[in-house]
Amino acid sequence: MDMTRWLVRSAGTCPDWPAVAHGTTVFQDYRTLAARAAKLASGLRAAGLAPGDRVLVAAPNCPQYLELLYGIWWAGCAAVPANSKLHGAELAYMVAHSGTKVCFAARKQAQAIAAETPEGLERVIEVGSADYEALFAGDPSEPWLAGPDEMAWLFYTSGTTGRPKGAMLSHRNLLAMTMAYLTDVDPTEPGDRILHAAPMSHGSGLYLMAHLARFGVNIVPESGGFEPDEIASLTGHWQRTSMFAAPTMIKRMVSSGVEIAPDALRTVIWGGAPMYVSDVKSALERFGPVFAQIYGQGETPMTTTLLPKHIVADKAHPRWEERIGSAGHVNPVVSVQVFDDDDRPLPAGETGEIVVRGETVMLGYWNNPDATAETLRGGWLHTGDVGSFDEDGFLTLRDRSKDMIISGGSNIYPREVEEVLLTHPGVREVSVIGRPHGEWGEVVVAYVVGEADEGDLDALCLSRIARFKRPKHYVHVEDLPKNNYGKILKTELRASDARLVRGSRGEED
Ligand code: AMP
Repeated sequence: MDMTRWLVRSAGTCPDWPAVAHGTTVFQDYRTLAARAAKLASGLRAAGLAPGDRVLVAAPNCPQYLELLYGIWWAGCAAVPANSKLHGAELAYMVAHSGTKVCFAARKQAQAIAAETPEGLERVIEVGSADYEALFAGDPSEPWLAGPDEMAWLFYTSGTTGRPKGAMLSHRNLLAMTMAYLTDVDPTEPGDRILHAAPMSHGSGLYLMAHLARFGVNIVPESGGFEPDEIASLTGHWQRTSMFAAPTMIKRMVSSGVEIAPDALRTVIWGGAPMYVSDVKSALERFGPVFAQIYGQGETPMTTTLLPKHIVADKAHPRWEERIGSAGHVNPVVSVQVFDDDDRPLPAGETGEIVVRGETVMLGYWNNPDATAETLRGGWLHTGDVGSFDEDGFLTLRDRSKDMIISGGSNIYPREVEEVLLTHPGVREVSVIGRPHGEWGEVVVAYVVGEADEGDLDALCLSRIARFKRPKHYVHVEDLPKNNYGKILKTELRASDARLVRGSRGEED
């Protein structure tokens, strides 16, 4: 089974059902979507592409995203969905690195890529332009029958450090991820809907296949992004709508005060970054028991552990707080272990690197055999995330290893300090980092968005966590640095903190 079979099936059985919507308007039914994919595949062939070729797509969310992905697969090619907020030079790096000859982009991204003249690129086609439409002018072609281990999606990691690497995701990976979504994350009835308010180049796009397999509607907001008022009106219009959201988006929805009609929101899946317990509680209070969590990474997309809705909502459970602060239990299509520094499995309660094996784990990194061998050593995907299981099989993440602070020889996981600080009503957002220190190695520094008083925060920490974990310094800021997916960029925060320290000593940058 490859990705196009589901489109063929949906178009055959429910041709008139809406497949893609733009705002409240139906953009394409299943018959049209399949016909467009078949014609685009012919157009790509005519443009000189062969099965196995990579095709980069650099566009903000748009209703053409589905015909592009499925047209690329119909031609037997692999899609390279790129974060549209990247700089032209970063997009050009991905174009050249992936060996993309023909690339699709929105106007702004098309100009930015063309200006960089990446090696090997023959054509940039602006989505929606006359050039673009010309690709659909030929006769439809037969869909390429991809083998399960052919690459479908080249997922460039969000790259919070260094050059991004391309995780090669096969049709088998996407199939397993989709099945796991439909059974455990968000069981979906025929015709159900998903709203793409988060980037379709990332988590939200990875969920579009599930709704297509269930004859559902993929809704692209007209704003192309995340606007709480628009989410309220679109979910009210479409009803039974799910969406993927970064924790920061959910927080914005809660604080925006928007009203969402009952039955409008089916499931809101958060992931990509930790959501703090206090935020989960306010989201539940505000919007009801619609929240589920997934923990994954580009290398095992959307699939490592999950916290389903019924567990998030089970307030009566004696360990409810611990559970909603965890990343949930193992997804049924993978095995997950916690390894020590010598790659030996650790028992429940002990902290180590999280490793994953199973159907969703990538084929490897594109053109990077060293990184592939290192990351997949011993047949396990080494995630770089640190965590521990409890006796019931719930995995708690303790930050990425590089985010851990070592102060006076003790390990401090920023998240546990952040969880405590966030319980203060005067803290809207917080990020805790380590600042190099001559005597202690590192000291804990908290960057706070909000009005909370330092003395109060210190007292709060003293009442909840070990003394050595409490921040030695507080820095009040307007905003925290975040990437397009709402992930706080600790590397950037550490760099700006270093500048702050140098500045306070009167040193030059
Ligand atoms: P990406 O490959 O860009 O999707 O980033 C994946 C990384 O985001 C993971 O390795 C984790 O560090 C982090 N992450 C993903 N999901 C969660 C989650 N539910 N809770 C906390 N961190 C997460």
